[in-house]
Amino acid sequence: MSAPTVESADLVWMEGDQPFSSRFDDVYFSRDSGLEETRHVFLTHNRLAERWHAMAAGEHFCIAETGFGTGLNFLAAWQLWQASAPDDTCLHFVSTEKYPLARTDLQRALAIWSELADLSAELLDQYQDLTPGWQHFSFAGGRVTLTLLIGDLFDTLPELDAPVDAWFLDGFAPARNPDMWQPALYQRMAELSRPGATVATFTSVGDVRRGLIAAGFDMRKVKGFGRKREMLCGQLQQPPAQPWRAPWYARPEKTCKRSAIIIGAGLAGCSTAHALARRGWQVQVIERLPDVAGAASGNPQGILYCKLSPHHPPLSRFIQSAYQYSLRLLQRELKQGEGRWHACGVLQLGTDDKEQRRQQGLASQGYPASFLQAVDARQASALAGVEISSPGLFFPAGGWVSPPTLCRQLLEHPNIEVRTTTAVADLRHDGSQWQLLNEQGDCLAASGTVIICGAHETARFAQTRHLSLKPIRGQITHLPADAHSSRLKTVLCADGYVSPARQDEHHLGASFRFDRLDLTPSEEENRHNLELLQSLSPELHRHFSVTAPQGARVGLRCTAPDYLPLLGPVLTPDAFLDQYAVLGKDASQQPTAPAPWQPGLYVNTAHGSRGLISAPLSGELLAAWLGDEPLPLPRDLAEAVHPSRFLLRQLVRGNASSNK
Ligand code: SAM
Repeated sequence: MSAPTVESADLVWMEGDQPFSSRFDDVYFSRDSGLEETRHVFLTHNRLAERWHAMAAGEHFCIAETGFGTGLNFLAAWQLWQASAPDDTCLHFVSTEKYPLARTDLQRALAIWSELADLSAELLDQYQDLTPGWQHFSFAGGRVTLTLLIGDLFDTLPELDAPVDAWFLDGFAPARNPDMWQPALYQRMAELSRPGATVATFTSVGDVRRGLIAAGFDMRKVKGFGRKREMLCGQLQQPPAQPWRAPWYARPEKTCKRSAIIIGAGLAGCSTAHALARRGWQVQVIERLPDVAGAASGNPQGILYCKLSPHHPPLSRFIQSAYQYSLRLLQRELKQGEGRWHACGVLQLGTDDKEQRRQQGLASQGYPASFLQAVDARQASALAGVEISSPGLFFPAGGWVSPPTLCRQLLEHPNIEVRTTTAVADLRHDGSQWQLLNEQGDCLAASGTVIICGAHETARFAQTRHLSLKPIRGQITHLPADAHSSRLKTVLCADGYVSPARQDEHHLGASFRFDRLDLTPSEEENRHNLELLQSLSPELHRHFSVTAPQGARVGLRCTAPDYLPLLGPVLTPDAFLDQYAVLGKDASQQPTAPAPWQPGLYVNTAHGSRGLISAPLSGELLAAWLGDEPLPLPRDLAEAVHPSRFLLRQLVRGNASSNK
């Protein structure tokens, strides 16, 4: 994977507030009429108002754009959407951008559109300087999502999985940006289009017109905006042959009824319920414990610990996108203070050579300083408020969160009903829906869609027993805060972590034990946690060596063998192994028979100790699978976290019989 350096937009300001690209020698939009031009070219010539008026409840519409730039097209579309689409519908806007604007530039560029001020403010509340990869946003109470694909569109669009209804073919003029206006782009647009998808572009250049026609679009020249004589618009006439897609990673058939049962009210279950409820689904959350977030998500303080690798394997890319989405969700849903959460920053300390090499690798990759900064021990001490003896990486936007508070907040939605002290022992499909049975075999609830978010207990059902899940015991230690320890201002992380005081307590973590799965705190693990503090801050370690812990809490984290979560639909294992047995002999075969899904059965689990980071975006991914929406992750990552991966590996490695 290439380094994630974001190249700057090289933006200069002409005539006061007119953004101009010195890299492409072209304007982002015309100052006098940018908004009117957007409306004429992209909104009117994709016939959006008329198509949106005609939408039925529960439907969604997907626009894809080349070149997000200042976000003007997005905001104009969102404004029209508000005025013309029925309430119970969703707009998904996907846009590519190779040179994202810094937040300050975006703010300045959008300031001139006073009639878009409310929408700009909502965008800016969540927009930070962007890092490469997929960046997902949710606005307007969940009715509008934005997924920004940061990188060159020839790298990002092949990884996009989105059924597109309308294309905004923007980008600087073909003469100024010839690398973008290529047949491969038009071909990919056709592949991603739903039947009847439309396209509009400000240019009328012959090569563009011919390229789009060759890709299957029927194109017309129509009157351009203002001084521009002509522009192009069209519709897909000839859907192209689709490239082969592994059926075990394809989308299961969409369910018509937008209601679901979620098993488990930890971070994964609450995030999934929240994502679905915001889209208009009716959700019932069933939890065996008396309280929400009563198991592993019940620690009083969780850490937004974004641990990346300079080599960008799938886990690291997933974490990077998910961390930034969690920050946006927190910004949107949970006010800071009063023990809820605090963006106090997270210092990852380089306490040994290997860790320092990892950190140097990341520090040299051009991440925005608002995302991560390399600091020496002196700077680290100033940030932390206590003496630190190692260099590190500082994540200024990170911090700590109270997971139970977040979980409760995520469930605060009129579409969500919560049933605690209700244990599901069995699942049975009656031909039309899933019945959830208790120990006595009585039906507790029924639904066509069930999402199991039960950490390692997700695999307790006959239908999910084949999933590779493992519990790991973890204990945190509560330490009393006093005047001295309260000088700690940021979270410190290395092999363990310590948090600034919350409600007069610090929390120190955490043990990793595979050998015992009980929930009784142990002295031994408290001692182990204190030893971890030694490498974080010898000063705090000395201070706390003479203080008795105020308590401890044990939880069971859940992990998969590859440490990635399991997110998505569930196969019927025996039928899968029979149906695709040919892969056991020749893994290069491309079978096309549809995969044997267990109808409407999904999982969201294996978040390890990083649920605060990974669960919110995972909830959005689950909602996207269920609603046939654009996936908020590139295809390769959606497949890397897909529950089908283990059965596939088993088959390809030739040990399929172990499942039968
Ligand atoms: N739609 C934008 C708006 O509403 O403000 C204006 C788009 S601006 C004219 C063109 C954008 O395309 C720039 O932001 C530029 O960085 C982006 N771009 C150009 N070539 C690209 C490429 N190969 N991949 C992704 N983005 C590209």
